[in-house]
Amino acid sequence: VLRLDNIRKSFGATHVLNGISFDVRQHEVVALLGPSGSGKSTLMKCVNLLERVDDGQIWLGGTDITDPRADQDRIRARIGVVFQQFNLFPHMSVIRNVTLAARKVHHWPKDRAEARALELLDRIGMRAKAGAYPDQLSGGQQQRVAIARALMTNPELLLLDEITSALDPMLVGEVLDMVAELKDQGTTILMATHEMGFAHDAADRVVLLRRGVIAENGTPREVMDESQDPETKEFFSHFR
Ligand code: ATP
Ligand code: MG
Repeated sequence: VLRLDNIRKSFGATHVLNGISFDVRQHEVVALLGPSGSGKSTLMKCVNLLERVDDGQIWLGGTDITDPRADQDRIRARIGVVFQQFNLFPHMSVIRNVTLAARKVHHWPKDRAEARALELLDRIGMRAKAGAYPDQLSGGQQQRVAIARALMTNPELLLLDEITSALDPMLVGEVLDMVAELKDQGTTILMATHEMGFAHDAADRVVLLRRGVIAENGTPREVMDESQDPETKEFFSHFR
């Protein structure tokens, strides 16, 4: 579904991504791990076209999305994105938040957008909250709504960037449960996370970023339990 081929990205003299290559295959959940500042969000933004890569290619299916001639709105409709926070507009109801991009960016008629939104809200048990405003929801409910919104256009790939880091510990579980459900339904997911337990138990593969390159790429067991690399062992020792 997704292929990164030798991605490079610098901000001025800061070389953040120094030749990153890996794949995310269909139905796979890949956890992107690494210390703070290792470039996880930058990589996600390159995939979502919020940042341009300096060099290398990113393929989504058969489309080179780094090609400057590529249709950006079309590509974004094929990728769902949820960030750490500020996902919902506070002055809009849940249903308007969920339907906004589908209607304004992808020009769906109102009926179609609302029907799809209600179906998604129903699936996460939030249909009764369609008319509520974000501040009437818990942080966990807000993130679940944000995930529902990301799924509106039935994307080929879901990008989740630390979607539980801003939540009360008590609310983390319900959001991770939803991610696990999506995995069971076959959603292809690339998620940056510091939730090592979840990455270990739910991810098919983990990719560990370090100083702009991929230090590890393998099953959770290979990378988190069995790697003999001293820096890798050091990194995961902080989470035990
Ligand atoms: P965290 O775990 O804290 O979210 P991260 O792995 O997501 O970290 P990034 O946010 O990708 O890390 O940042 C990687 C590096 O790129 C950092 O050194 C950061 O300061 C730098 N950086 C990110 N965005 C910009 C920008 N727009 N301008 C300049 N530097 C940036
Ligand atoms: Mg980040």
